[in-house]
Amino acid sequence: MLTNDELSRWDRESLFHPSTNLGQFARGEGPQRIIAGAEGVHIIDRDGNRLLDGFAGLYCVNAGYGRTEIAEAIAAQARELAYYHAYAGHGSEASITLAKMVMDRAPKHMARVYFGLGGSDANETNVKLVWYYNNIRGLPQKKKIISRWRGYHGSGLMTGSLTGLELFHKKFDLPLAQVIHTEAPYYYRRKDAGMSEEQFSAHCAEELERLIAAEGADTIAAFIGEPVLGTGGIVPPPRGYWDAIQKVLARHDILLIADEVVTGFGRLGSMFGSDHYGMTPDIITCAKGLTSAYAPLSGSIVGQKVWDVLMQGTDEHGVLGHGWTYSAHPIGAAAGIANLRLIDELGLVENAGRVGRYLNDRMRGALGDHPNVGEIRGEGMLCAVELVRDRDTRGFFDPAEGIGGKVVAAMLRRGVIARAMPQGDIIGLAPPLCLTEAEAEVIVDATAEALRETLG
Ligand code: PMP
Repeated sequence: MLTNDELSRWDRESLFHPSTNLGQFARGEGPQRIIAGAEGVHIIDRDGNRLLDGFAGLYCVNAGYGRTEIAEAIAAQARELAYYHAYAGHGSEASITLAKMVMDRAPKHMARVYFGLGGSDANETNVKLVWYYNNIRGLPQKKKIISRWRGYHGSGLMTGSLTGLELFHKKFDLPLAQVIHTEAPYYYRRKDAGMSEEQFSAHCAEELERLIAAEGADTIAAFIGEPVLGTGGIVPPPRGYWDAIQKVLARHDILLIADEVVTGFGRLGSMFGSDHYGMTPDIITCAKGLTSAYAPLSGSIVGQKVWDVLMQGTDEHGVLGHGWTYSAHPIGAAAGIANLRLIDELGLVENAGRVGRYLNDRMRGALGDHPNVGEIRGEGMLCAVELVRDRDTRGFFDPAEGIGGKVVAAMLRRGVIARAMPQGDIIGLAPPLCLTEAEAEVIVDATAEALRETLG
C-alpha cells in the first residue's frame, strides 16, 4: 500500500482536480483530503478522520455509503454483461428494467427516459431534443433557452451557459448566444422589501414575460429551472412561483425543462420536485439520486408531447443523430435498480421529508436569533444558512473575508462536512436521505459552534 506522503505527492503532481485552484493545489498550498472509505453518512480519510458528510458527496449519495446491495448488484452485472451499447434498439435486462422503474415513478405524462452519464450531458441532450423538436415542427427560429441567474445546470459549453453563476462563465467566453437569463426566485434577496412571496412570484413571472416580449416568443424554445435552486444557494421557490411561471410559458408555447438532478428521487420528501410543486414539465433531468452516485448515470425523461414530435422526426428523417457510447450503461443501470429498490424498502423519500424538516427546525431553533444569520431555509433534506453582516440591511460580508469558507472549515474541525455555496456566504447542507435525527443534531451543533467560533 502506498504511504500517505507518496499518495499526496502523486496527487499534487498528476491529478487535474475539477473546481480547484490549480496553482495553489500544485504548490501544496490548497486543501487536500484523500478518502479511504465510507459507511452510512460518514466518510473516512487516509489520516483516519471520520467525518459526517452533511453534503452527501455533491448531494448525490442519497442512499448513504457502503450499501452492499448496490455494490453486489454492480459486481454481478460486471460479471454477467459489463457493457453493450444501446444504439439501434439494443438493450440489456438492467437498462430496460431501470427505464421501467423510472417511468413508474415519473409524473404520469412522461413517455420515455434517455440514459446518459451525468447531469451536464443530460442537459446537453435536453437542449438538442428541444431544438430537434422545433425543427420538426417547422419553427427553426425558436431556439433560445431561458435559464435563471443562480441556476446550475452543468459545466459543459451549453450547460455552463445555462448555469447562471459568474464563476462558470468568466474567462470561458460563456454564455453562448442562444442562452438568456432571467431573475432568480430568491425571495430573501428581492429588490422591494415590501413584497409578499406571492407578489414576488408574480414579479418574477412579469420579468419573464418582459424578457420574452423583448426577445420575441417565436425565438424562445424552452425554460430550464431547478425546482429548488441548488448550487446557487439552496433557495426554495416563493409561494406560487412555479404556477405563475408555467402560465407564462404555456401562453408562449415555451417548453419547461425541470432540472431535477438534485431533487429527483426523494431529496425534497417527494419522488420528484415536480410532484412537490405541482409542475408539469415537458422534460425532466435526473442524475445523482438515480444511482446514489454508486455509478455515473443520468436520465432525460421526455414528456409525451415532445416524444410524439421526436417520433415524427425520425419517421421523416431516419435515425436520431444523438447517442453516447455509454448511454444506458448496464453497470449504471444495475446500480440504479438496486438503489431505487433500497429507497423504497428503507422509506428514504419519507425519511428525507421527516428528518429534513427536523434538521431545518432544529437549525432555526439553534441559530435563528444569531445577529449574522440572515435566513435559514430549506425543503426536504436541504438546508441553507445565509450569513450577513447586518440582519436589517441584509448586507453581505466582504467576499475577501471568506466568512462562509471559514465557518465550513470550523465545522470540518468538528467532524462535519458542509459546503460554502459559490456566491455569497451561504452554508449548504444536503445530507444523505438516510440521516437520523441524532445525526441531524450533530450537524446543528457543529454549525452553531462553528458560527460562534467564527463570528462570536
Ligand atoms: N443540474 C443540477 C441541478 C446540478 O446540481 C448538477 C450538478 N451539481 C448538474 C446539473 C450537473 O451534473 P454533473 O455534475 O453530473 O454534470
